[in-house]
Amino acid sequence: MGNKRLGYGWMRLPITNPYDKASVDVPRACELADDFLAHGFTYFDTAYMYHNYNSENVLREAVVSRYPRSAYTIADKMPLSDLTYPEEQEKVFEDQKKKCGVNFFDYYLLHNLNAANYETAKKYHTFEFLLGKKQEGQIGELGFSFHDHAEMLDQILTEHPEMEFVQLQINYLDWENEGVQSRKCYEVSRKHGKEIVIMEPCKGGSLAKIPPAAERILRAVHPDWSPASWAIRFAAGLPGVRMVLSGMSDEEQLADNMSFMESFEPLTEEEQKVLFQVRDIISESIAIPCTGCRYCVEGDKCPQNILIPNYFALYNQEMLDTNPSWSSEKEYYSNLLAQGFGKMEDCIKCGNCEAACPQHIEIRDWLEKASDFFDCEGEGRYVTGERRLRSDARK
Ligand code: SF4
Ligand code: SF4
Repeated sequence: MGNKRLGYGWMRLPITNPYDKASVDVPRACELADDFLAHGFTYFDTAYMYHNYNSENVLREAVVSRYPRSAYTIADKMPLSDLTYPEEQEKVFEDQKKKCGVNFFDYYLLHNLNAANYETAKKYHTFEFLLGKKQEGQIGELGFSFHDHAEMLDQILTEHPEMEFVQLQINYLDWENEGVQSRKCYEVSRKHGKEIVIMEPCKGGSLAKIPPAAERILRAVHPDWSPASWAIRFAAGLPGVRMVLSGMSDEEQLADNMSFMESFEPLTEEEQKVLFQVRDIISESIAIPCTGCRYCVEGDKCPQNILIPNYFALYNQEMLDTNPSWSSEKEYYSNLLAQGFGKMEDCIKCGNCEAACPQHIEIRDWLEKASDFFDCEGEGRYVTGERRLRSDARK
């Protein structure tokens, strides 16, 4: 691993078709990778299902086939929620090596350990399988990404001390959030002496575009620091953090992140205080705490083909919208329905999506609420008033 703590999350790359996550703009991905590597950063984080199972291929095309193996490091993951029988692990692992074009992974993780996936890992002997791969020299360091409560993390780390690092969702908005338990999970990892890789430091982009009232407070302290840079600095400054992943989608985000991560300085105590002050403002204005991870829709989970993360993003945007007289989000929604995705009101409340959601979002309730606006003609039955209230609160 290079000594620079910014990792490239290879899951929000530029795409050529907004309705097809697999349609990565490969020439642009090459340019982004070139820029990243040219500045001395080396760490790429991919996974089997990112970009609709195309992220590993793009990593091969943009990085592996164009640079010597010593120029970069790769973290990949075993997709526990996709597995249907134990032998599939071998098949997936071989497929990942082929897709990435490598014969070993510098870092390899059990993907998204939570109570359900931990049971799968135990049933299929995933820990033993991956230790075997490490002993064969096909894996450098072994860890897991985690999306559950702190007690569960404590249990896993107690039962599997051989794990060398953990990947956690840590950001200043979720630091004290009881659903995500960022701080508690961080403390458990430190108690077990594990180094930490941080994912979602900007909470899926939510902390890059914050309400104007919150941004004004940050800009008053450092006019040239972007809101995203505050979020990444917070995460990267925590002791024991070896890497912060950012899913950079364009040249501007990449340049911004590299500008302060090249020679990183942690936030001061005073700066942290300011950040927690704006956290409270932001919490009030984000309706649904969805990160856009897409676990709720991967692998045909929704029998009604409801595009939950996209609809939630539209709803959140609608709530932040400062112009209540017109909704472009409704147009986006209509476009998605025209592509054949299910309406929010078609939800049959089976609960498949909620079982997969690492943020523990009450998806069915939120769909019902959002449907009141998106599935009816005109401005919606209630949303205009609510949105105005929210807009007023941010002034
Ligand atoms: S509860 Fe609704 S949105 Fe969730 S998977 Fe079932 S039908 Fe789809
Ligand atoms: S609803 Fe949950 S699982 Fe679905 S994209 Fe949002 S955070 Fe991820």
